[in-house]
Amino acid sequence: MQALDQKLDQLAHRRRTLPQVAELESLAAEHSRLGDAEIVAQTTVADLEREQKRADVDVEQVRARKDRDQKRLDAGQVASPKELESLQREIEALNRRQSDLEDAELEIMERLEQAQQEAQALSAEREKVGQQVREVQQARDDSWADIDRDAEQARTERSELAGQLPEELLALYEKIRASQGGIGAAALRRRTCEGCQMQLDAAELKRIASFAPEVVIRHDECRRILIRVPDSGL
Ligand SMILES: [Zn+2]
Repeated sequence: MQALDQKLDQLAHRRRTLPQVAELESLAAEHSRLGDAEIVAQTTVADLEREQKRADVDVEQVRARKDRDQKRLDAGQVASPKELESLQREIEALNRRQSDLEDAELEIMERLEQAQQEAQALSAEREKVGQQVREVQQARDDSWADIDRDAEQARTERSELAGQLPEELLALYEKIRASQGGIGAAALRRRTCEGCQMQLDAAELKRIASFAPEVVIRHDECRRILIRVPDSGL
């Protein structure tokens, strides 16, 4: 019974402490961090796309106005020299303005390209981590299934065994097990209690030896049930 309970405790511990459980935790954190970063990058891309469209419109407006001025100039519609000079100055100014706006637009496009690459890289990285998450989950589930199968078998054996033990003894065992770190019964081997690892003195050994085999004996020191075995040293 003690061996089965220890096995069940170990299986439960193994289930909790599987390396995949910790690995999944850190992968999930990484996946979520990448998701957040991707949202930020996509927002930047959308902002820059809007900026680029605005810059496009600005350039187009300046170009249209310049074309209109140029046509008026070319058509010889402007007669007054003063007006002519003012028109030429405006065209020059519009040329400079267009050049500045085009430089600004180019810079926006470079930033946009960079932001798009960044968003794509983050998306690919997140996809990769997502795949790792699925693989580790599968490995964890496989291990859990193995553990659960072993545990189910141990529980079946335990319940069969429990049916054969006197109810009071079982209750005593459970009570000691709960208060003594999971060990309610221990072998007395080579005059030592395997529950607390203490050696029993000659008087106690003599007292134990005087009891019939069916009498339940307990270690005075740790109060655990002592199981007599062939090499108890009695
Ligand atoms: Zn003991």
